[in-house]
Amino acid sequence: ERVNVGEFARMIGREPAEVIKKLFMLGIVATINQDIDFDAATLIASEYGIEVEKKVVINEVEFETIEEQDDPASLVPRPPVVTVMGHVDHGKTTLLDAIRKTRVAAQEAGGITQHIGAYQVELDGRFITFLDTPGHEAFTAMRARGAKVTDIVVLVVAADDGVMPQTLEALSHARDAGVPIIVAVNKIDKPDANPDRVKQELAEHGLIPEEWGGDTIFVHVSALRHQGIDELLEMILLVAEMRELRANPNKRARGTVIEAKLDRGRGPVATVLVQNGTLKVGDALVVGTIYGRVRSMHDHLGRRLTEAGPSTPVEITGLEDVPEAGDAFMVFEDDAKAKQIAEERALKKREQELKKKHVSLDELFSQIQQGDTKELALILKADVHGSVEALRAAIEKIKVEGVRVRIVHAGVGAINESDVMLASAARAVIIGFNVRPDANAKAIAEREKIDIRLYNVIYKAIEEIEAALKGLLEPVY
Ligand code: GDP
Repeated sequence: ERVNVGEFARMIGREPAEVIKKLFMLGIVATINQDIDFDAATLIASEYGIEVEKKVVINEVEFETIEEQDDPASLVPRPPVVTVMGHVDHGKTTLLDAIRKTRVAAQEAGGITQHIGAYQVELDGRFITFLDTPGHEAFTAMRARGAKVTDIVVLVVAADDGVMPQTLEALSHARDAGVPIIVAVNKIDKPDANPDRVKQELAEHGLIPEEWGGDTIFVHVSALRHQGIDELLEMILLVAEMRELRANPNKRARGTVIEAKLDRGRGPVATVLVQNGTLKVGDALVVGTIYGRVRSMHDHLGRRLTEAGPSTPVEITGLEDVPEAGDAFMVFEDDAKAKQIAEERALKKREQELKKKHVSLDELFSQIQQGDTKELALILKADVHGSVEALRAAIEKIKVEGVRVRIVHAGVGAINESDVMLASAARAVIIGFNVRPDANAKAIAEREKIDIRLYNVIYKAIEEIEAALKGLLEPVY
């Protein structure tokens, strides 16, 4: 993500010359018309006490969100938010149930467990929030909408089955999002369980266990027999501690919609995850382009709440319409302001609806001329393992100065929905070699405007990628 220097100066209310000077002090030489990266922008902004957030993409509309930087003294630790991923039938759902059952004493808490899309558990006074829809599909669909909610991914691998295609998909999705991974080696109760094989197979893909000198935590569990659950939770808390997850509970809330529906009696109902600040009953808010006022708030045990702090998932009513999972919400000082913002956003959304958001190989040239991209992200799919590797090797050999090829995911088999969603989140182009997209993937690719390129000779694929990359280069004067 990059921002134009002049634009950025305007955003933070400073003279461009001043910003350019500051950049120069950082060793970055830029003119008013050039772009700087997100890190540089953040650094400069922080000198003025301004926190820069990446643009939030809501309904494919980009809204600038600049938030006052939190005073470090106001920040307190917040619970980690965890998503469980893994191959089908490896035990994701069973694990989520086991965690809920061992750690949420519903009767004691005076409630009945409700499915609201997320729940929170406690371990010795510390909390963890779990997203209740396992798998990388939901995770990446949210990312494609610009939402970043997951702090830690638990990758479930069945010890009797080992690493499977969706294990690797999940790994690519988590990696691309830059989220730390903890491996839960599940089904260790089975007689044919072979946890060492799981470790070996994952090590081949870069997840090296700590006991082998790497930095990936592996925990042996049996979701079915509720074994190793507390240890897994301990490890999650450990990773969370190292990440120093913090938030400021003493301000207006912001967060993301986890799921939403229309309820016959209650109207639009949405489960939202509070990511910063505290959400209160009566708050005026905007969700995506929808205005609302929090009428009621319930937790996953059906208990009525009046407020919810950072990392808390709550089900709220009072929205004027049903938002979508991944939509960001933000509380405003009053109704009038919230209504105005919702209207402005709706207008902007209509204006931008026709604009394409994603890259296609053909468009890369113009994109780089506008300074939008210096990287080509690719997803490779091929009919056999050998072709994947041949393609990968050939692509990695392409050297064009000033641009970088990043292979987000490579796998064997037809181009599927997961590939398309990953391409959407990572803004990648999909390269298929001797494979085609399945019907579902094709439909989604059309909707998400993802470029899928099919080849049956490697050199042809390489030729086209190289041509696109060369187009990427800025003109030399
Ligand atoms: P998902 O598709 O990843 O959500 O997998 P499920 O949670 O639905 O589990 C698939 C099957 O594996 C079910 O029949 C579970 O009962 C079984 N299973 C899950 N965890 C374990 C475990 O720890 N041990 C054994 N023996 N079976 C398990």
